[in-house]
Amino acid sequence: MDYVLPLTELIEQFRRFPGVGAKSAQRMAFQLLSWDKSDIHKFSDIVLRAGKDIHYCPDCFNFSTGGSLCAICTNEKRDKKTICVVSSARDLAALERTLEYKGLFHVLHGLISPMDGIGPDNLKISQLVQRLAKYSDVQEIILALSPSTEGEATTLYLTRLLKPFVSKITRLAFGLSVGSDIEQTDELTLARALEGRKDC
Ligand SMILES: [Zn+2]
Repeated sequence: MDYVLPLTELIEQFRRFPGVGAKSAQRMAFQLLSWDKSDIHKFSDIVLRAGKDIHYCPDCFNFSTGGSLCAICTNEKRDKKTICVVSSARDLAALERTLEYKGLFHVLHGLISPMDGIGPDNLKISQLVQRLAKYSDVQEIILALSPSTEGEATTLYLTRLLKPFVSKITRLAFGLSVGSDIEQTDELTLARALEGRKDC
């Protein structure tokens, strides 16, 4: 059975989310339509506002608002001498949850993956080099990338690239199996991986 066009369109939009198939998308669309009109308006307003107001921090590429630096970059209490490189804002959030890390971050927005056609130019890597050139007091770069093929390729690439800019480059001490995800790792394991980090 065909649905009315606005409902078909709504289902198609939900299907764009990772892991959402046709059935889940239908469930989400029907759920949304069961809400009060005022709640549907509120939902769409929040989506619009997120699309309009959320930008990348010009320094670390974490999410920020209004084109200004993010809450971590502007926090006076953060240690400006250490930058932790992560592949996504989700991994950044996972490391923040450990409450152990007090330095700054740099979000690459992906990992090098030749199979998927993702090279260094597709990531925020040149911006990291520019950042290091601009703030010469950075003393340590922590490469907190997943122990996957892509994570390893990116760690190797960055280690070679960043050597001239910073005296100490380290990586997380993963007691994790290859392919495990940083965002899926519990706080205690991540805190240990951070504390036991090794020179690259
Ligand atoms: Zn920032």
